[in-house]
Amino acid sequence: MRLLSKVFQPLITIPKNAKIKSTEVTCKSQKLLLECGLIRPTSSGLFAILPLAQRAMDKLETHIRKHIEAAGAQRISLPSLTSAWLWDNKHIEAAGAQRISLPSLTAASLWDKSGRLQEMGPELMKATDRHGKQYVLAPTHEEAITDLLADVGPLSYKQLPLILYQISSKFRDEHRPKHGLLRARQFTMMDAYSHHATEECVRNTYERMSQAYRDIFEGLGLKVYRVEAPSGAMGGSLSHEWQAVAEAGEDSLTVCQRCQHVGLEAKCQRCGGEGEVVSSIEVGHTFVLNTRYSSPLGACYTDAQGARPALRAACYGVGGSRLLAACVEAGGAWPRGVAPYSALLVPPKEGSKEWQQLGWSSVEQVYSQLSVLPTLRDDVIVDDRCDMTIGKRLMQANRMGYPYTVVMGKAALESPPRYELVCGSSTQLLTMPELLKTIDT
Ligand code: ATP
Ligand code: MG
Ligand code: MG
Ligand code: MG
Repeated sequence: MRLLSKVFQPLITIPKNAKIKSTEVTCKSQKLLLECGLIRPTSSGLFAILPLAQRAMDKLETHIRKHIEAAGAQRISLPSLTSAWLWDNKHIEAAGAQRISLPSLTAASLWDKSGRLQEMGPELMKATDRHGKQYVLAPTHEEAITDLLADVGPLSYKQLPLILYQISSKFRDEHRPKHGLLRARQFTMMDAYSHHATEECVRNTYERMSQAYRDIFEGLGLKVYRVEAPSGAMGGSLSHEWQAVAEAGEDSLTVCQRCQHVGLEAKCQRCGGEGEVVSSIEVGHTFVLNTRYSSPLGACYTDAQGARPALRAACYGVGGSRLLAACVEAGGAWPRGVAPYSALLVPPKEGSKEWQQLGWSSVEQVYSQLSVLPTLRDDVIVDDRCDMTIGKRLMQANRMGYPYTVVMGKAALESPPRYELVCGSSTQLLTMPELLKTIDT
């Protein structure tokens, strides 16, 4: 059940709130969005989009996409400040996270306060406005989220734990960008931040979010290990990297031959078995931060006695664009649910006997029979480049790795017609009811 009391919605009354000058509020929508706790300014002209506004934005995005795609537009992402993501957010939200959006431009003064302006040095991309104010194009958002909670706070202990997440572009001046999306200078990340009163609560939420991560990766069919890791420039007391086994990976880990435990040592810490070293890709990283950012940035909560201790935090990041690339690295076919299209329909070659006897109407018929399957709704595409042979189109389909390819070959002329279903390395010749049953299960 969704409870309004748990929604992160800092309510304010403009003339009374010292942090927002009433002279800066110049229109109805601005006043409503601010007062109802839907948005929050972070710097001049920059806003955090809070969970209720984010829900509305998500719906708006779905609505816009539906109509714009019906008009024939295809979605892409050019380097920009927009977000793009590859799975729905059910696992993260099931763990209690609420979606927000923070601006990519973050005040350099915040990075100075946390000490990371120095620590991360050349990896930070910077920008300056016309008044000379300096910004960091966020490589991650610990400073920004902590500043937001300091600004709206102090939260009551009753509002905790609070888990906020976003999906947005991150910027890092990588010394050597490499492997396409695996190491880019701008990439998409799902980053979540949880805030707590007690260390026990941090650990519980950390494990719950870890389970959400396992569900995410399992849903993609990826073999991902959680490995204890140093916390590096992020700081904090504990961290885990989420490593996907793949040859192109720049990292490596040792997998026990006997119990599959993961670790960094040659001998398994759990069972003493021999470890095998494999290449891997860091697809995610989670950290217990405790008060690493809330202390220097002044983010606290009010406890039952009215005292104001610093918030304890954990953070969770998955590289979306890197994960997309890792899916492609790891397997022959796209995971279901991520494949650009789940099924490809290959009609006969133009001028062939099948083409002449079946005609385009039977292609349309097969297409609509496939499209009504719940697993394939709006997710079937026809390779209508019928001047190419079936073999040539199949070769390209194979390379692309569609989960299902349906071919209208010679057997489509039989009575009842049969179709080839190519699924990974297996090919079956099936009647339409058999085909639909196979795909549906
Ligand atoms: P790496 O060790 O590969 O440089 P990182 O440890 O610097 O990564 P984190 O700060 O832990 O990365 O960020 C969280 C996640 O963001 C990473 O686990 C990864 O999935 C993703 N990520 C980090 N850097 C990049 C990049 N340059 N391109 C694409 N994704 C990235
Ligand atoms: Mg890095
Ligand atoms: Mg790393
Ligand atoms: Mg990392």
